[in-house]
Amino acid sequence: MQARKDSNVQGIDVSRYQGKIDWQQVKADKREFVFIKATEGQTYTDPNFVTNVKGALLAGLLVGTYHFLRATSADVAKAEAAHYAKSLEAIGGAKALQLPPVMDYENNPAGISKAQINVVARTFLLELERLTGIKPIIYTGNSFAGNFDASLGSYDLWIARYSDTRVPDDQPAWKFWDVWQYSESGRVPGIVGNVDLNEFNGSLADLKKRYGREQDVSNPFNGYRITSPFGMRKHPVSGVNKFHRGIDLVVSPADGPIYAFIAGEVMHAKMGVSGSGFGNYGITVAIRDDKGYLHVYAHLSAAAVKVGQQVKRGQLIGKQGSTGISSGAHLHYEVRKACTPQYGYTATESGVVEPTQYLINYYGQTPVKEDKPLSQRDINVVSPWAEATWAEVTANGYYDGTRPGAMITREESGIVMNRLRKNILKLIAGINGNVADMDERLKKIEAEG
Ligand SMILES: [Zn+2]
Repeated sequence: MQARKDSNVQGIDVSRYQGKIDWQQVKADKREFVFIKATEGQTYTDPNFVTNVKGALLAGLLVGTYHFLRATSADVAKAEAAHYAKSLEAIGGAKALQLPPVMDYENNPAGISKAQINVVARTFLLELERLTGIKPIIYTGNSFAGNFDASLGSYDLWIARYSDTRVPDDQPAWKFWDVWQYSESGRVPGIVGNVDLNEFNGSLADLKKRYGREQDVSNPFNGYRITSPFGMRKHPVSGVNKFHRGIDLVVSPADGPIYAFIAGEVMHAKMGVSGSGFGNYGITVAIRDDKGYLHVYAHLSAAAVKVGQQVKRGQLIGKQGSTGISSGAHLHYEVRKACTPQYGYTATESGVVEPTQYLINYYGQTPVKEDKPLSQRDINVVSPWAEATWAEVTANGYYDGTRPGAMITREESGIVMNRLRKNILKLIAGINGNVADMDERLKKIEAEG
């Protein structure tokens, strides 16, 4: 892995063993971040946890917490995640802190298998993310890190190796560290005795940018001018009224940098070829996130990443441009539900989601906007989440659209269902040739419930 760098920001990690800490002195010593022990196992909470978090926040450090994992089964891993998440409520929850929660998994006293270590780790990480809404990071030691599958490489790594000269080893899951705990015997003003020293792979600004929750989260496209929203619009080039599959964003200058809105693996990074799913998209970078959605950055003047590369949120991926069919330099950003076939391209808008809401939901920073109760809604307005389906249903003729948004009656829904049923039978019978026979067989299936 990479070596330390003078320009990297410095931090520490602490638990009750450091006793009472003078956080102002720590901060004055240019220790800009701290990971504070919160919990261990299914029941233990560090007695200094809340005091340490409050003191460090007051002194202006960036604060995160960690949980020491003891689980040897998936069930216990879940219980430990619940205990950690619950304990975080005492300081306002994981989202009240600037740094993500941490799984500290560093030993194997029960001697479970490598496969089981990965089951335990994955279960804990997913459950913790579900409970806190924040993707955790992994803390481990230089040799223990070799236990983790390559798939865990999508988590940021905080690695321990106490050396001035030897860098942490390359691992199946990681070739770079994000945080390196390089000493367990550091001396820092404001702390009596030894303390662990850490370095983040970047400046203080980089650290804030990577994990910072103090940015404007209501607008994931902060810094961009939105020139055309997602949804129905008149196409700027053809003039035809058409569904816009993504959102158009503009930065200046015209060849300004484009950063990834989300982390993932690069699936495409070149000129879009007709029929590939990126025809007319120009130079297109497409990144698959950990949920399998494909993030498409189109009309670029250049790509700065390669296929197969892992990209982090905020990483430079290319330059704005106007390649492909484009009315001027802009970024067309679209989020597809799938990556295959044709990079998840669909002829209708059914294959895409609204990008702004997707990012907001993904980062869990703002709850999904709930529809008003039925009784308060304008029944002639179709809910945004239903727009795409509604357009498809009306286009297919299953609903004539004369009462859009009105509550559908029993009779109407029955007619629609029955028509759908008959059409499916006709469709299959087109292959099989016998509607009556198909009807008999479907009735049997329906009778089974
Ligand atoms: Zn567009």
